Amino acid sequence: MKQIAIYGKGGIGKSSTASNVAAACADEGYSVTIIGCDPKSDSSITLLGGHRIPTVMELMQQRVEITEKDVVFEGYKGVKCVEVGGPEPGIGCAGRGIIVAIKTLQKISTVMQDCDLIIYDVPGDIVCGGFAAPIRKGLVNDTYVLTSGEYMPLYAANNICKGFARLGNQLNGVICNSRNAENEEAIVSAFARELGSDLLAFIPKDPIVQTCERAGFSVIEKEPESDIAKVYRKLARTIMERDSACVPEPVTDARLRELTG
Ligand code: SF4
Repeated sequence: MKQIAIYGKGGIGKSSTASNVAAACADEGYSVTIIGCDPKSDSSITLLGGHRIPTVMELMQQRVEITEKDVVFEGYKGVKCVEVGGPEPGIGCAGRGIIVAIKTLQKISTVMQDCDLIIYDVPGDIVCGGFAAPIRKGLVNDTYVLTSGEYMPLYAANNICKGFARLGNQLNGVICNSRNAENEEAIVSAFARELGSDLLAFIPKDPIVQTCERAGFSVIEKEPESDIAKVYRKLARTIMERDSACVPEPVTDARLRELTG
């Protein structure tokens, strides 16, 4: 079973990538579970036709007895969707919250055992001990970094790699979600190479993604014949087949500035 997490700056497109990869893998016949840890629940919402589901943390706060059917929902092609929920502003630790919620989930459901792929959609803007909690607890064995070719997302991606390097955690690859920056593919490709890793996919900026999301669907479900759906399918195959990884060597800030010109 693959247990993957896609890390990257908040707002860079982790949830769309996660939900489209989940849908593409389900199309290929894999059984997939997606575990959203983001307060906005936006990785599962596009697999569930726009429906928002209760989060494990919300129900735990209400101190109700939680059963599987309260928190595990079947979406596109049988993808099992769970939202553990994210931190409330100003309260608690995101990393600890995720672990407590996942332990509860493991007690009430087999959703984390009976599948080929688990995708964790982790919060984006936390680069602390909390962000690494799913890795430290052995819940994640493959990690990917998503970035565009702009300075800030690359800075965040590089910081995440600093965290991985400190933990001795391996990076399985870099994904570029394009923002139409100049020389974007070349920049992210060079960044990936300097980390010691590879650029696995260049996802072009395409308004179809937002249109599908607004309607509550993944591109794979709503626009299966589109070019962007083909990109997601190829990425999904790469992720399922990839077995090479390395402990990343983060670049210096000066080099990052050079790369982004
Ligand atoms: S470890 Fe990270 S997630 Fe936890 S409280 Fe501190 S900053 Fe927040």
